[in-house]
Amino acid sequence: MNWNLAEFRLLGIDVKVHWSFVLVLAFGAFLYGSGPAGWLVGSLYGVLSMLLLFASVTLHEYGHALMARRFGVGTRSILLLPIGGVANLERIPEKPSQEIAVVTAGPVINVIITIVLIPVALLLNSGNLAQVLSLNAVGANIQSPSLLNLVVFVLSTNLLLALFNLLPAFPLDGGRLLRALLAYIMSYTQATRTAVLIGRLLAVLMAIYGIFSGAISLLLIAFFVYVGGSAELEAVSSRAVLRQYKAGRALTPGATTLYTSERVERVVDLLMRSYQTDFPVRDLSGHFVGVLTRPRLINALRESGPETRVVDVMQPASDIPVCSPETDLATVWERMGQSASRVIAVADHGQVLGIITTDDISEVFQVMSAAMAGTEHRPQPPAETSNDSPETRRYV
Ligand SMILES: [Zn+2]
Repeated sequence: MNWNLAEFRLLGIDVKVHWSFVLVLAFGAFLYGSGPAGWLVGSLYGVLSMLLLFASVTLHEYGHALMARRFGVGTRSILLLPIGGVANLERIPEKPSQEIAVVTAGPVINVIITIVLIPVALLLNSGNLAQVLSLNAVGANIQSPSLLNLVVFVLSTNLLLALFNLLPAFPLDGGRLLRALLAYIMSYTQATRTAVLIGRLLAVLMAIYGIFSGAISLLLIAFFVYVGGSAELEAVSSRAVLRQYKAGRALTPGATTLYTSERVERVVDLLMRSYQTDFPVRDLSGHFVGVLTRPRLINALRESGPETRVVDVMQPASDIPVCSPETDLATVWERMGQSASRVIAVADHGQVLGIITTDDISEVFQVMSAAMAGTEHRPQPPAETSNDSPETRRYV
């Protein structure tokens, strides 16, 4: 189902506007339309103000995305929600210096917008700085629509956006900044854990304040901070566990290989007699040509029966990511997520040694975290891969 109100592509990045964004525009129209400017002018002006506010949010996300691009990290999309924007990066740069650059680029954009608009406001206001600073930006903008009030509204909301995002409430920008700084003096996992704890504390305070002040958006943000922080802590812990293992060690010795000429009925037999669920396929000269995965096998049995040839239903080698036996399992997991494949081929000098599946990784993960149980926080096994990432990497 498509939940997007609008989608567009700018500077090579897809921007998706969630349908609930309509509520923001309706809220703007209602708030301003019931002001002294009258229904029509007021509600149009309200919509314009909200659009400018969210244009600022979008530019903030572009700050993150374009800085990440400098470090070779792509952005899958920028999503605009009523509570703000989310830049969905391909991965989070783990080098603290890079994360600091990516994280600060968002608020810096808002500060730049503020700085650029101050002289504009002064021009419109015959240089009366005291008046610009004393204007109650939101209130004045509702009370009397004018270019000056609109400019002051945009510049002050941008300043607020920068300050709010810099709160050390992980995964808000300030929390990420804190994590990156902590990562200089402790392990990445420990730094994340500390930042998440502080974030949770702030989320609780935000929620309490939200309840007493009636600011529903603050409640939503507090919820996002609490849940988002926990999810990311789990992902970081899982990655730390998997990083200790090399792909070569996750290969199953003596795994059965199929040949292109075989029929899927033989595989049914193999499935009954062993734990193997995914089978590498080789041609008669022994070259690796693909993998018959369990989902494809089941699909083949259902659609075309046991006589189907393996070669006709396998996942071809060209669709399968490759790693070396020395690649760590965290990287392996990441590559599988990126290519939405449940298998990866392990190759040494062009020679495919075998395959690793998401099941193999979950198994390694469970054994390793069981060995750590009791002494450490026990992370959850990574979820089955789909098109989505195995972890959150979202910048707000
Ligand atoms: Zn941000």
